[in-house]
Amino acid sequence: MYNVKSMKAEEFIDHNEIEETLSFAEANKNNLKLIDSLIEKAKERKGLSHREASVLLACENKEKLEEIYALARQIKEDFYGNRIVMFAPLYLSNYCVNGCVYCPYHGQNKHIPRKKLTQEDIVKEVTALQDMGHKRLAIESGEDPVHNPIEYILESIKTIYSIKHKNGAIRRVNVNIAATTVENYKKLKDAGIGTYILFQETYHKESYEKLHPWGPKHDYCYHTEAMDRAMQGGIDDVGLGVLFGLELYKYEFAGLLMHAEHLEAVFGVGPHTISVPRIKRADDINPTDFDNGIDDETFAKICALIRISVPYTGMIISTRESKAVREKVLSLGISQISGGSRTSVGGYYEEEEEDESSEQFDVSDKRTLDEVVCWLMELGYIPSFCTACYREGRTGDRFMTLLKNKQILNCCHPNALMTLKEFLCDYASEKTVKIGNELIKRELEKIPNETVKAKAKENLEKIEKGIRDFRF
Ligand code: SAM
Repeated sequence: MYNVKSMKAEEFIDHNEIEETLSFAEANKNNLKLIDSLIEKAKERKGLSHREASVLLACENKEKLEEIYALARQIKEDFYGNRIVMFAPLYLSNYCVNGCVYCPYHGQNKHIPRKKLTQEDIVKEVTALQDMGHKRLAIESGEDPVHNPIEYILESIKTIYSIKHKNGAIRRVNVNIAATTVENYKKLKDAGIGTYILFQETYHKESYEKLHPWGPKHDYCYHTEAMDRAMQGGIDDVGLGVLFGLELYKYEFAGLLMHAEHLEAVFGVGPHTISVPRIKRADDINPTDFDNGIDDETFAKICALIRISVPYTGMIISTRESKAVREKVLSLGISQISGGSRTSVGGYYEEEEEDESSEQFDVSDKRTLDEVVCWLMELGYIPSFCTACYREGRTGDRFMTLLKNKQILNCCHPNALMTLKEFLCDYASEKTVKIGNELIKRELEKIPNETVKAKAKENLEKIEKGIRDFRF
């Protein structure tokens, strides 16, 4: 029985509710009166329910789709402005005891080299990441209680935060590790993590169990209820995601929004981010073996609909996607992207031989961070290395309040400009510096509060003189 507030996975992600939602959406996909009213409702910027959003996802009317895309662009602009937050993944270990059939780290893959970074390796990796200009990382690890116990993850986080190389620093570590206990989430919280990210992979229980035939991750309910435990453990910011290609996208979309509604209903705050990965080729994985792959158009439609359905939730796109796809969805609602990523263990300080690759999946966008930053600015975006909110305790509902009160232009905007300035001073190429300084000059004028504007100008001058880490 569907119950948004239930703490049982099968009740807050109720299969029948999803099936009924999909039937309702199919029956109404040409109901222009309803579709118009839903678009009007979305314009209020309070989001849409999974049922409402599913009707729009089913709609194939070109004119209406254009209206949805325009609204997604507008909402993106209103809530996030033109800032795009930058991050990089850091793979700690690919030892794994799970059987995920889409992931080359599955325990039965005897071909892939197994690697785990030592604390000395982490210093080298993080130094390389700092030298690129990164300030925000997402750590990734396979699940293996012997090789990668929580103590190893905690020690690694401590090491990462402790490294101060030249002007570099990692100021926010997000964590993407397997579902765990409330006690372990508390430990992660105490270690000072940013967002806890866990992809659901698929919300379809039966498929989930087939796609995860063995290992701890086989337990659908334990996995699906992980965000509840994370929040009970005190983690305010959680990141959802499904791996598109595993199941029917309409099913996943409804499930994803139901999950967001559940977190909002129970904890008073929805997910901090939603990621939209698609299956990629990898060591012994061929994406065409999965029947439910989605084309770029559908992918863009999903991104736009997530943006209008959960306007306050950040949306992340990784280098799984090509430059062209990333460009398309940036305007539709993406707020965070990775750049210069390596998806192998130890990949930042060491080039791996092809046949010795520990990569999790093929990266489509292989450009350097400097190239990605430059490209974003040429498209009119401000690449932001800001980590201020979490460091100022503006997490969970406090961050949402900032967003809802439209204080972004007086807070996030100057912070983005100051952290971009740090990047220009310390890491950027000549071309990027030129474009960046012009952009900062233009964008400074958009800060509405005169005191904030003056302070930002003052700080930018100090950054030029070598002082770092200012924030509002
Ligand atoms: N091991 C952790 C877990 O089980 O949740 C998370 C870390 S895993 C390195 C991060 C994510 O990569 C997975 O949740 C999955 O969605 C994604 N992934 C796995 N195989 C992939 C593939 N072939 N293509 C694209 N993404 C993949």
